[in-house]
Amino acid sequence: MITDSYNRIHNYLRISMTDNCNLRCFYCMPEEDYEFTPASRLMQANEIEALAKIFISNGVDKIRLTGGEPLVRKDAADIILALSKLPVALTMTTNGTRLDDFLDVLKKAKMHSLNISLDTLHREKFQLLTRRDQFEKIINNIHLFLKNDFHVKVNVVMMKGLNDNEINDFVAWTKDEPVHVRFIEFMPFSGNKWTSNKVFTWKEIIEVVEQKYKVIRLEDAKHDTAKKYMVPGHKGTFAVISTMSAPFCAGCNRMRLTADGKLKNCLFSKTETDLLTPFRNGEDILPLIHQSIQAKAKMLGGQFTEDFAHIHAEEIANRSMITIGG
Ligand code: SAM
Ligand code: SF4
Repeated sequence: MITDSYNRIHNYLRISMTDNCNLRCFYCMPEEDYEFTPASRLMQANEIEALAKIFISNGVDKIRLTGGEPLVRKDAADIILALSKLPVALTMTTNGTRLDDFLDVLKKAKMHSLNISLDTLHREKFQLLTRRDQFEKIINNIHLFLKNDFHVKVNVVMMKGLNDNEINDFVAWTKDEPVHVRFIEFMPFSGNKWTSNKVFTWKEIIEVVEQKYKVIRLEDAKHDTAKKYMVPGHKGTFAVISTMSAPFCAGCNRMRLTADGKLKNCLFSKTETDLLTPFRNGEDILPLIHQSIQAKAKMLGGQFTEDFAHIHAEEIANRSMITIGG
């Protein structure tokens, strides 16, 4: 078991497969000319598998693949299939642009559920947010995966003045299709132009939905970061991930491995522990994993509190989201 000093058991690992991406979401990848990490410095496919096995032997039973965009990696299929053979629930967060090429691989890997990110239902706004013209491709791929009975969660980063006017359009989508929309409060990362007045909170989101719909709150599963709701009679559900206004650190069970093999004990941790270099040197990395998790802060990487109005984003020491793995 991997536990921290607050007795939180860490059984959920997010692995970033790459910091490369084919979109340029401004809140995630601040600079258009960001230089991606050279392949030799990334964990190789066999290294990802070997590191995953060490975590699994020590109690990890859920792995989420992320990035960057996991599906831009040339050996993505090999990595997914190798991890699918391990005794772990495997899932993924993707921008959805390449999913059609991976339908058979994901079926073979028995990955029944996945998160697809889409912040707007308007093509022009999508282009503004991501600096790329891939809206139709993603919508088509969401439909393709729904048709193939995948449990599809749609991640929507909610930003005041940008897409808060689309909240009820997303909820309307859950009426006839079994999509599970997850509104994510906008979070501060290095260089991403975050200011507290752009956060549209959990409570504000629910107020907007309640102006149009009668909603019911669904029960939270253990370790769930999402507060779940549904409109009675709708096929899908919606949820809010309230990291900023109501953090869920008390039940945190997550660790993150960056694409260059650094362990982050929290999304907002200041420090990280290099596992890849000692692993390549043949050293035992288990003590490093335990040390890193033991040093985990009680909440939000010890860098801020839920009083988010007083956060100065430029004072937070962290990577940009694309280099962490969301
Ligand atoms: N490329 C994949 C994707 O877009 O789904 C996986 C990586 S992405 C970093 C993972 C998730 O983090 C996405 O749902 C994205 O919208 C979310 N994300 C990125 N930056 C964020 C921010 N500043 N605040 C909240 N969520 C963010
Ligand atoms: Fe790429 Fe996902 Fe970040 Fe957008 S959110 S830039 S798709 S990694």
